[in-house]
Amino acid sequence: MECINTQKWHLFRYNYSTTKKTKKEGAINEKKLELKKLLIYAKSVYHIPQKIKELTDKRARKTIPFFNLIMPVFLFLLLQYESFHTVFSSPESMRKRLKHCIRGRIPKVDAIRDALGLTDPEETEGILTATVSRIQKNAVLRGGTIGGYVTAAIDGVELFCSRKKKCGKCLTRKTASGEMEYFHKSIVCTTVGSNPHLILGQDMLDPRDGAEKDEGELTGGKRLIETLYSQHGHFADVIVADGLYLNVPFLRVVLKCHMEAVIRLKDERRLIFQDAEKLFGSGEGKKEPFYREGKKIDCWDLDGFELEGLQEKLRVVRYREKNEKTGEEKWVWLVTTSKEIDYKILWKMMHKRWDIEENAFHQLKTYYHADHCYCHEAVEVIFLLMLIAFNIREMYLYRRIHGFERSKITRKSVTRIFRDDLQAENLCWILYIEGG
Ligand SMILES: [Zn+2]
Repeated sequence: MECINTQKWHLFRYNYSTTKKTKKEGAINEKKLELKKLLIYAKSVYHIPQKIKELTDKRARKTIPFFNLIMPVFLFLLLQYESFHTVFSSPESMRKRLKHCIRGRIPKVDAIRDALGLTDPEETEGILTATVSRIQKNAVLRGGTIGGYVTAAIDGVELFCSRKKKCGKCLTRKTASGEMEYFHKSIVCTTVGSNPHLILGQDMLDPRDGAEKDEGELTGGKRLIETLYSQHGHFADVIVADGLYLNVPFLRVVLKCHMEAVIRLKDERRLIFQDAEKLFGSGEGKKEPFYREGKKIDCWDLDGFELEGLQEKLRVVRYREKNEKTGEEKWVWLVTTSKEIDYKILWKMMHKRWDIEENAFHQLKTYYHADHCYCHEAVEVIFLLMLIAFNIREMYLYRRIHGFERSKITRKSVTRIFRDDLQAENLCWILYIEGG
C-alpha cells in the first residue's frame, strides 16, 4: 500500500541521542561576535560578494557601479535596518557606516531603488539556491532537526499590504468594507527545531489576469516543494504545515518527493476530524501519557483514515495538554502520512513549529521587517537578499561561534554588535574583490 520510498527514508533517519553534542565549551561573551568575521565567512564559503558582483546590470545609466548599490543593501538587510530611508537618507548618522562598506560615492536612495527594480529575481534566487546547496554539502542538517528527522515547515508570508500603492505583481483582495487591498505573498520553506534555522526556499505568488483568482498558497506550496526537491534532492524528511495543506494534491506532491507530511488540524468540520473524534471518544488509540514543560500530555493515535482521492491512509493524533499547576487544558490535533514517527516526536514538531519565538517565520517578521515595503518595484529581489542574509547569519552564529546557543546573547544584541562594528571599522577590503 505504501508508495513512499522507505529505504531512502531510513538513510536520513539518525539516532537523535548519538548526535547530541557534548556540552563542554564555556559560555562566550559578546566580543567573540564580529561582523568582520561574518563577512569573511560569507565571502570565503558562500562567495556572496562575488555572486552579487555577477548580477546583471540592466540600468541605462551606470554612473555608480551596480555592486555599490546591491552589496550595501544585502549588508543593511543583514543588519536588520527597518528601511532604506533610515540608511541612505540620513547621511549624518549613517555616514561612517556607509563609507565603511562602499568605495566611492555614496548612492542616493533613488539610485538604490532603481538598481533593485532592475535586478533579476531569478539570478538572485540562484544565490539563495547555491547557499542552500553549500549548507547541505556541509551536512549541517544530517543529524535531523527534531528527533533525528530533518523537519521543515511551509507557510505563507505576507510581505506587505497597501490600499494605495499597486504594481503589476500585486495580489488583490477586497476587505470587509469593500475596499481593494494590494499585497505580495511568498510561500516559505524553513527548517524547524534545532539551530541554525535555515530558509530552504521561497515561492512568490503571482497575480492572474481578469476574473481568475490570484494564485493560492497551495499552488505555491506544491511548486516550492517540487522545485526544492529537483534542486536539492531529499531536502527534508518531514514537512509540517497548517490545516490549509490537508489537501490531496499537496499530500501527493509531498509523498512523491519521498517525504512525510504532518498537518495541524484545526477545522472541526473536516470529516477526518469527526471520524477520529468518535473513535478516540470510545478510548481507541490511547497511548501512554508523557510530561513536558510542566504539562501532562495525554495522547490518542490511530492510523487508517481516508481522505477522498488519496490512496494512502492517514494517521490522526490527538493531544490533551494539561498544565499541572493551573489545570488549564489545550487540545492539539494533527494528521500525518507517517506510519513510524513516534507520537512524542510528532508533538515536538508541532510545538517547535508554532513556538512563538523559535521559528524563522517569526524572526523574518519581527527582526528582519519582512512585512515592510523596502521598495515596491523589487519586492522579490529584496526578500531573496533577506533570506540569504538570514541563512548566513544563522550559520555564522550557530556553526562558527562555539557556545553561542548557550550564551543567551539576544538577537537584538547581535544586531547591535554588528552595527557597532560597521561604525567602527572599514570593511570594504572584505567586500570588494580584486579589480572591483
Ligand atoms: Zn505590488
